[in-house]
Amino acid sequence: MADAPFRSWLRCFGRCSSDEYPLEGFLYRCPRCHDLLEVGHDITALGTRSGDTWKALFDARYKRTEWPYGSGVWGKKEWVGPTIDSANVVSLDEGGTNLFWAERYGRVLGLDDLWIKMCGNSHSGSFKDLGMTVLVSVVKQMIARGTPVRAVVCASTGDTSASLAAYCAVAGIPSVVLLPRGKISTAQLVQPLANGSRVLALDTDFDGCMEIVQQLVAEPGVYLANSLNPLRIEGQKTVAVEIVQQFDWAVPDWVIIPGGNLGNVSALGLGFHMMRDLGLVERLPRIAVAQVEAANPLYLAYHREFAGGLTPVHARPTLATAIQIGNPVSYPRAVKTICEFNGVVEQATEDELADAAARADQAGLYCDPHTGVALAVLEKLVARGEILPSQRVVVISTASGLKFNEFKVGYHDGTLPAIASRRANRPIELAARYGDVRAAVFSRDLVETV
Ligand SMILES: *Cc1c(COP(=O)(O)O)cnc(C)c1O
Ligand SMILES: [Zn+2]
Repeated sequence: MADAPFRSWLRCFGRCSSDEYPLEGFLYRCPRCHDLLEVGHDITALGTRSGDTWKALFDARYKRTEWPYGSGVWGKKEWVGPTIDSANVVSLDEGGTNLFWAERYGRVLGLDDLWIKMCGNSHSGSFKDLGMTVLVSVVKQMIARGTPVRAVVCASTGDTSASLAAYCAVAGIPSVVLLPRGKISTAQLVQPLANGSRVLALDTDFDGCMEIVQQLVAEPGVYLANSLNPLRIEGQKTVAVEIVQQFDWAVPDWVIIPGGNLGNVSALGLGFHMMRDLGLVERLPRIAVAQVEAANPLYLAYHREFAGGLTPVHARPTLATAIQIGNPVSYPRAVKTICEFNGVVEQATEDELADAAARADQAGLYCDPHTGVALAVLEKLVARGEILPSQRVVVISTASGLKFNEFKVGYHDGTLPAIASRRANRPIELAARYGDVRAAVFSRDLVETV
């Protein structure tokens, strides 16, 4: 059943007019001015329920089994896609990920209240599942209502494609993914192959794949799954609600998030705004966007105070492959978020991201390189006094470290170019003799200083 009193629609992000378009359609840009689209919600109707009523409803559903509300995304269904029939929801029980108190790592940095939101502990191993469930559900609803869809397509740096392939396989919908050849991890390449997606590996980078996908979606019946499509952002915004919910509805002081195409930071901002507009919280956190130096167009624009708009950069190779993006599609959305959240943008080098990831790993995490970027930026903001020791900080971990074995192995083998591997830990190979083993066990302290 759709949640009858509430509704949502597509509208122009720049609000060139008050035109409304249905969620179900092949529309990704404003037909009048070609700006991005966003999803509009009937805030007046949603506001007829009090903030406390919403909190109680969301808490009652959280991680339960009543379809589809046990999902972290669909537990907030009225705020995400009220007109999507529950029968059309394609869910893999996304969201509900753990919020890890990084006590030991935080203490090293001088923070008592540091938390890592483990968004990579998800079906396909990245936060992309939060948005993909909404997008594929809308496609299922289109098909159920008689609109033929020949394929759902995306350009990807690896995680979007893995997520799209999984959700489409669950729903029996054909998917096609365009990947930059040789620029993603083995796990990310195998995931869509295993899920039966048609995988096209192109001799270009992500930005090159994205250009071709934009042409492909002009073909009849081809639906676009990139975060140009605002349906993805609607699902991803629930991470803000979920974090606050996990703190018993207390707002943290800072949220740090790695940014590539910049959909996720925009989603984060939307989630916090909606909570404030609907009376669940009274204040907003500050947001820090973490970029990698090799692909830093937002960082550069931030230091120009956004004057002159986005200047795309040529994104150079980076360990943080999922954010090797030089021409981020959600740039205007992200700028809005940064302005509204007193945001900052900082960058990290390859060595800084690898070192921060290894340091956090020694305190019990298992960081992918993108989380490493966010942690390196955290370390910088603490060092320069922008983040204060007493503040509550949440770092968004965007993927599972298990998808990035090449990064982990290379770091500890000391074979990553330009990486010092200061915290490398190598297996000690020994003959099976007690004396040798004993000597190796007690040769130095067993717990490293982080
Ligand atoms: C997609 C992705 C990002 C970047 O998110 P954007 O919305 O493109 O800014 C960061 N980390 C990982 C692991 C990702 O898959
Ligand atoms: Zn417009």
